[in-house]
Amino acid sequence: MSRGIAILGSTGSIGRNALRVIDALGPGYKVVGLSAHSSIELLAEQVRCCKPACVAVSNGEYAGRFRALMDGWDAELLVGPDGLVELARSDGVDTVLTAVVGAAGLPSVLAAARTGKRLAIANKEPLVVAGELLTRIARENGSMLLPVDSEHSAVFQAMQSGTTSEIRRIILTGSGGPFRGASREDLERVTREQALSHPTWQMGPKITIDSATMMNKALEVIEARWLFDVPVEKIEVLIHPESIVHSLVEFVDGSVVAQLGEPDMCLPIQYALTYPKRVAGIAKPLRLEEIGKLHFERPAPETFRALKLAYEVARTGGTAPAVFNAANEAAVEAFLAGHIRFVQIVELIEHCLDSHEVGRANTLEELLEADAWARAQVRTRLGLETHSAPCRAPQR
Ligand code: NDP
Ligand code: MG
Repeated sequence: MSRGIAILGSTGSIGRNALRVIDALGPGYKVVGLSAHSSIELLAEQVRCCKPACVAVSNGEYAGRFRALMDGWDAELLVGPDGLVELARSDGVDTVLTAVVGAAGLPSVLAAARTGKRLAIANKEPLVVAGELLTRIARENGSMLLPVDSEHSAVFQAMQSGTTSEIRRIILTGSGGPFRGASREDLERVTREQALSHPTWQMGPKITIDSATMMNKALEVIEARWLFDVPVEKIEVLIHPESIVHSLVEFVDGSVVAQLGEPDMCLPIQYALTYPKRVAGIAKPLRLEEIGKLHFERPAPETFRALKLAYEVARTGGTAPAVFNAANEAAVEAFLAGHIRFVQIVELIEHCLDSHEVGRANTLEELLEADAWARAQVRTRLGLETHSAPCRAPQR
């Protein structure tokens, strides 16, 4: 029997790679659902090629254009943020690959976890915002959470050498981004173009900026805390510019188990889809003899302050991680739109956290309220109009 996969965010960097991986996997894996937000022409192309039973256009404004492009097509079209949620819990889907960017993916990932589906998680922000809620719902409904993020896929693979109680440390590696070794003064002069050119990974714009500020690694620390149920005190970050050792786990006996590979998301995407099996795929083989040397160094938390903040908000808990994430999303949006300088991204997050009164985070509504509050704070501080937050609770 083939595995029915829905890709939420199929038009993005992860989504497009996932389609290549699934195509190469062959008949055992079938795309049954796709979603896009605004890249309608690309979505139409993907739908013609994969013929999924169900399609979601999460930005309702583009639904009409999609219908016009797909004249005569008779599969199901789901529209708006609720459409994305419907797709995630739809009956014909047994695996949901979450590749939407940002907290906008939270309602759909929770919906999929509630229906006990297998979740291949690339969209890390929901785990940061709602790690406790999401992992509890997944546990209660028998939904398996499989990491797609390369570091977490590496940790997941290394963890198969021992038990959670035998872990001494999880060591997440990071390339250090385009500004590794830069001073605070250097960061003052960074341009949008410089921040968008990552040395080792090809990714969407938001995560590329996150990599440059080290916010990506900060989010990944919290992501690991929830995926592996390990306190943040046991999670460390090591800079590894070649991006070959994707992460490591040190066990209590001193053994360190790592996973290596080329910096290519096809491998972790594939493993999350085929787990517990391993099959031949399209990932480029690793030739260590061609790479020669691997380097490791400590991160610089005084220059890249996002990393320090991650440990603080993880310890604080409640709505703090949701505010941390939403402030970043709003600040990155402002940076990409040319409204602020690079260094202001983390300054805005710090300001937001300082003025936030931490509350309970037991429900989706409480989390979305904190998310909306943080976005509004950032926009007000920048003198920008405060329009609605991009994520909201689904209608029942
Ligand atoms: P992209 O920006 O390339 O793609 C984002 C996808 O989400 C697109 O399909 C986009 O649709 C859709 N989207 C955007 N906004 C919304 C919204 N408000 N509601 C619903 N869908 C939306 O991002 P990436 O593929 O780079 O990243 C996706 C996720 O995976 C992120 O959480 C990132 O942190 C994580 N990740 C990415 C890695 C990578 O290598 N790229 C590595 C590890 C993790 P459209 O294009 O149609 O507007
Ligand atoms: Mg990563």
